[in-house]
Amino acid sequence: MIKIKSVRGVHDLLPNVLSKHNKIIENGLKIAEKFCYSQIEIPIFEFSEVFTKPLGISSDIVIKENYVFKDRSNDELMLRPEGTSGVVRAFLNAGLSQDIPKRFSYFGPMFRYERPQKGRLRQFKQFGIECLGINSSMADIEVISLGYEFLKSLNLIEDINLKINSLGDFQSRINYKKVLVDYLNNFKQELSDDSLRRLSTNPLRILDSKNDIDKKILLNAPSVLDYLSQDAKIRFETVCEGLDTLNIKYSVDKNLVRGLDYYCHTTFEFITNNLGSQGTVLAGGRYDGLSKILGGIDISGVGWAAGVDRLAMMMESEYINGVDIALIGQLEKHNLLLFPILIDLINEGFKVEIIYTGNISKKLKRANKIRASYAIILGEEELTKKIIKLKNLSSGSEELITLVNAIKTLKNHLND
Ligand code: ATP
Ligand code: MG
Repeated sequence: MIKIKSVRGVHDLLPNVLSKHNKIIENGLKIAEKFCYSQIEIPIFEFSEVFTKPLGISSDIVIKENYVFKDRSNDELMLRPEGTSGVVRAFLNAGLSQDIPKRFSYFGPMFRYERPQKGRLRQFKQFGIECLGINSSMADIEVISLGYEFLKSLNLIEDINLKINSLGDFQSRINYKKVLVDYLNNFKQELSDDSLRRLSTNPLRILDSKNDIDKKILLNAPSVLDYLSQDAKIRFETVCEGLDTLNIKYSVDKNLVRGLDYYCHTTFEFITNNLGSQGTVLAGGRYDGLSKILGGIDISGVGWAAGVDRLAMMMESEYINGVDIALIGQLEKHNLLLFPILIDLINEGFKVEIIYTGNISKKLKRANKIRASYAIILGEEELTKKIIKLKNLSSGSEELITLVNAIKTLKNHLND
């Protein structure tokens, strides 16, 4: 028989990895909540236009990165490649634009048809936040500081650097695009195929190229920061000032862009060197044009999304907690009698595994392997005396007591 495999770039999350994902998401939701960002859940698939309209037909994501399908009603649907468009769509549908500002957090799987490699999957998970309805650059400082606190809570901030840039307003970007294209036109022979294509479709995205030759060419490219309008310049300076006030270290990277037209002003990425070339673990920016593209009124937005899979790869330690109690019958015939005890114990809040097979020493071996703190053992002698044997697995000490007393002891030792 040939084993059935999972789809390329689509991974199972086994408990030791999933526990890290859960920890990341739990921390994210908790910190976001403190910043008054409320959790929202949006569909995993939407009408394609939710994603294609904002991206514009030139976008790379539209061209090759998405999972599109027709359902039985012939509607064109797409597995979501990102969260922001869905959140803004949901916000508009719920009529919340009358009630701004609104702050949201979300998490869940995203889908992109990419070339799978370390840290780059076809199904991956993001945790993200969006702040809608605040035009002031104060919101940019707020979301960056929320990202910073989130990474700090995971003890990862030491290995992560913050890069920021400004794309300016619409006019700044039109002016800049022109000089960038003029500059890159001199290197048409050397540019990678992708970048050459982007030269006519989405030139800003070339700044994001991972190709070494492109990167070299870009070193001397004109800087978007030299083409900012006065207003955009002041906004960017204010964001930098806010980060300085918070003692958040950053570097300005003139080549940091988000490839989509609705992004403006602040863009930022938190990057680590520990994951090879897939080092961006959290990325975001301001997207004031998005709500209008989705058919709503003009509402500003700024937010970010963190790659949960990449963050989990940075986390060394395991988050699997041990087991409180290993429940053991001396002989196989005692197994059934363990179930009422199991129910009592879990109702008291303990984490319990019944060990069904093997002789006593094998069962105790298993209890140690699962890092149980205690074993409760039931045998003939215990049954006749209506007691159990409670064994402390770290000290080895044992006592014969009633279940009620055992629970009291366990509560003192395990539930603080
Ligand atoms: P990259 O430059 O790595 O392709 P991106 O600009 O496409 O990233 P965003 O759309 O900004 O990424 O998504 C935010 C974050 O989600 C990224 O910084 C990354 O951590 C994570 N991410 C994006 N695509 C993938 C993927 N295919 N697999 C795993 N994580 C991903
Ligand atoms: Mg990408």
